This record gives sequence, C-alpha cells and structure tokens, in this order.
Amino acid sequence: MNIPQIAYQSYRELKTDPRVVKLVRYLIINLRKIKSSVGRARFIHEEVDKTLEKLFARNPFLKDTISCKKSCTYCCHTQVSVTADEAELLSQKIKNGEVQVDRSKLYLQAKAKNDYKYWMDIPYEQRKCIFLSEKGECSVYKDRPSVCRTNYSLSAAEKCDTSNGGQSKRLLRTELADVIIASAFSESSDNGALPYMVDSNLKGDVLLFSTKK
Ligand code: SF4
Repeated sequence: MNIPQIAYQSYRELKTDPRVVKLVRYLIINLRKIKSSVGRARFIHEEVDKTLEKLFARNPFLKDTISCKKSCTYCCHTQVSVTADEAELLSQKIKNGEVQVDRSKLYLQAKAKNDYKYWMDIPYEQRKCIFLSEKGECSVYKDRPSVCRTNYSLSAAEKCDTSNGGQSKRLLRTELADVIIASAFSESSDNGALPYMVDSNLKGDVLLFSTKK
C-alpha cells in the first residue's frame, strides 16, 4: 500500500500549482526537522486540520451538504491507511494504557496486511476499527489518522455502508489536505493498513523486549 488513492490523485492534479509546490516544500522541510514520530504525525494532523478549517470557513454552506453525523460508523469499517509515524502514535497510546483495544480483533484484521480483497472478505462486524468504541465513538479522536480527518460524504450516509461490498458515493474534495497526506506518505519510512501497521509495531516492541531478556 502506497499513497492513498484520493490523496495521490489530488497531488498529481495539483503538483505544478505554485501554491502546492510551496506547500510541499514547507511540509518536507518541517517533516525532516522533526525528530520524533509522534511529533511528525501530530504536525501533519495539525496541517490537515488547518487546511480543512480554511475550506469550511470559505464555504460555510458545505457543512449542511455533508451527510456524516456523530455515531455514523460506516467509514470506520473500511481499510484505513496510516504512515509509520501515525502507527507509532497509535501504538504508543495502546502501550501506555491510554486506550484499550481488542488484541484478538487486531490480530485478525492485521492478517489482511495491505490486501483490500482479503480485508473485504472479513465479516463486517470484525472489520470494525479497533479504536471504535461500543458507543460508536473514536477512542483516539484527537490523534486519529489523516485519512479519517478528510473523509466527508456528500451522498446519503447509507452509501458508505460496506457490509455488502463497496458502493459508489460522492466524497467532499479536500485537495490541499490530500496534498498534505500525499507528502506525509511519500516522506514516510513505511506505510500501510492501520491494523497491520499497529500490530507490526506492537509485535516489534515485544520482540525487542524478549531480545533484551
Ligand atoms: S481511527 Fe477513529 S475515525 Fe479512524 S477508522 Fe478508527 S475509529 Fe474511525
């Protein structure tokens, strides 16, 4: 799994726009300056949020056209991509006990690795994100991946239901936020599906621990 498809498409369309060239340069310089994974992940999240805030401020009517509502969890059953930095940030929250996750579900989901077809063959309930609470809330909301931050549906919410496979839907175009995501993924040492990346990160920690012993 490389750069998420929508992010890559926006980047390809806009890469010669001087505004975008300047933005990408700014992002890369800063990403290379920040030494910690958590710092880099949060830097990108802040940049994505700022860009989205500006988009909504310029188009106040947009919020009324979006069908996403609190407790709608369809998109939290899809295969979400993360950078290595985002996987590290999420794994740290598990390691330090800030969030509890179902490790057997994580293991089951991680077996899909980055294979979308395998993922879609997992029963719908088992595809529910490990960070989605029983109440249908994201337990890592402030630190949720960039891809989750830019997912806004303009179609009826039911179109996002993947329990019977994918459906055609219209998503809000978030081009500049997409360019930020594309830059973060292209600068990342690794990237992939959230469960696979987080599981690998947690296992790596166990391996390191047992080697030391
Ligand atoms: S990280 Fe949060 S917003 Fe993203 S898929 Fe999981 S529960 Fe949903």
